[in-house]
Amino acid sequence: MAKFAEADARLFKNIFVCRKCKNKVRAPNMKVLAGKVKCRTCNGKALRTVRKK
Ligand SMILES: [Zn+2]
Repeated sequence: MAKFAEADARLFKNIFVCRKCKNKVRAPNMKVLAGKVKCRTCNGKALRTVRKK
């Protein structure tokens, strides 16, 4: 799990991945939840958080 809080924040905080084209988008959490963020590449709004399996 998170070994360093800073690294964890840098890698996962406010970063989302497009479900369609796997592009990473950095955006404020609230904006994504409100559906105001679109993928730069495919204009899709289906974003998910970055998660390790
Ligand atoms: Zn996309």
